[in-house]
Amino acid sequence: MALYQKTATELLGLLNAGQVTSEELTRAYAERIAQVDPKVGAYLRVDVNGALEQARTIDARRKRGEPLGKLAGVPVAVKDLLCAQGELTTCASRMLETYRAPYDSTVVAKLRAADAVLLGRTNMDEFAMGGSTENSAFQKTRNPWDLERTPGGSSGGAAACVAADEACLSIGTDTGGSIRQPAALCGITGMKPTYGRVSRYGLVAFASSLDQAGPMARTAEDAALLLEVISGHDPHDATSVNVPVPSYSQNVREPLQGLTVGLVREHFAAGLDGEVESAVREAVKVYESLGAKVKEVSFPHAEYGVAVYYIIAPCEASSNLARYDGVHYGRRTDEAKLIAELDAERKQLLAAGKKREAESLDTSLVRLYRKSRAEGFGSEVKRRIMLGTYALSSGYYDAYYLKALKVRRLIRQDYDKAFEQVDLIAGPCTTSPAFKIGEKVDDPLAMYLVDLYTVSANLAGVGGISIPCGFSKQGLPIGLQLQGPPLAEDKLLRAAHMYQTATDWHTRRPKLA
Ligand code: GLN
Repeated sequence: MALYQKTATELLGLLNAGQVTSEELTRAYAERIAQVDPKVGAYLRVDVNGALEQARTIDARRKRGEPLGKLAGVPVAVKDLLCAQGELTTCASRMLETYRAPYDSTVVAKLRAADAVLLGRTNMDEFAMGGSTENSAFQKTRNPWDLERTPGGSSGGAAACVAADEACLSIGTDTGGSIRQPAALCGITGMKPTYGRVSRYGLVAFASSLDQAGPMARTAEDAALLLEVISGHDPHDATSVNVPVPSYSQNVREPLQGLTVGLVREHFAAGLDGEVESAVREAVKVYESLGAKVKEVSFPHAEYGVAVYYIIAPCEASSNLARYDGVHYGRRTDEAKLIAELDAERKQLLAAGKKREAESLDTSLVRLYRKSRAEGFGSEVKRRIMLGTYALSSGYYDAYYLKALKVRRLIRQDYDKAFEQVDLIAGPCTTSPAFKIGEKVDDPLAMYLVDLYTVSANLAGVGGISIPCGFSKQGLPIGLQLQGPPLAEDKLLRAAHMYQTATDWHTRRPKLA
């Protein structure tokens, strides 16, 4: 087995035993990336020299016997949405194409403190809006299992790089499914933690009440390790919860006794692909064979999840993205050109005797905002800003935003009631396996419906994990989603690991030449 195929847990064993150096490991990944990323397109930027330098420093410290962090020497990829000091953080948007973050996000700071090697930045849907990574302003990412298909999104690059052995760990973010859905479609393990478990400081905001960063890996063991490193209370983020971080990586190997798994009746209704359904039902049988009880529960408000999400998320986005005005933040249009255009228009109107129109032309400042935003944002981001602005506007606020908040509360109550009866909920992560590039990109509604099973966890603030549970006849991975009560990450990871000790879906690899 090549070095780049090993899990982080295995690699740490080799590093600690002195059987491999971080420099060798980093080189192995750099070569693998050079070999396969031209096909996959998972990375926006790979910092080979910077990574090698970090690796050599850690190797030297290890040699001197200095105490090292929990990820010492292991390369990690980071979604291009998390700030890293002095580095580009583009959110795959023209708006931030040249933006260099002046500070480290807490997640990145914690990775550095754990002595991880930062390998590069992964592709995503622009500002994390999308479910296929096709909304990136810069490149397409392809699903390593079938290069004609999308890896899902928005953390499509972060999922594809792990699936294609271009990293063993990556950081994604999940606002409505963007860690779990691409993890499912690429056949890896991805977890959205409980809202507040991981600090959002330095995570470029999409929808602040839903956004959460989390681990993407090949195994639950590795996800536990990465979650342990990035979790914790942060004085920079008032919404981060102030409860101690359990030793996820130690606890993960302890099987859960007397587990009751809930199946949500409404998850197995119209819209669910038959192959996904049978793979999920088989996975539930595996839990039964491991001693779990299965119980059906009902989520009466499940059908409203997508509608509620696509009001609340755009509302918050329209507010968050107002800051990109070309003055405070973001790309500014060519000012000289702008002023010349304005003068020419004014002259034309005056020459035509339209004095009033000439006087009421937009001032150059308003134009500057408008042109900068028109040029900087892609069409999906503009659609979200318009949807959100509309739903928040006077006269519509009560009918849309306020109503959505009320239904959001009811969705949370569905979870609370279910967790009185069951420990965890198991079900499909996506409605179908990976779809083709181009298949849904011109049909926003079809793209939004892909999020059917993932948005509720964000609306309720609970944690969820997707783990590989089979393949379609066409050889595409299928994901099993487990969801738990608030701050039950420990349980979720242990349940996921239990499944991975009984099955080998997570060890399958795409054939990339
Ligand atoms: N697909 C969803 C959306 O487009 C979720 C995105 C996310 O979780 N960042 O909003």
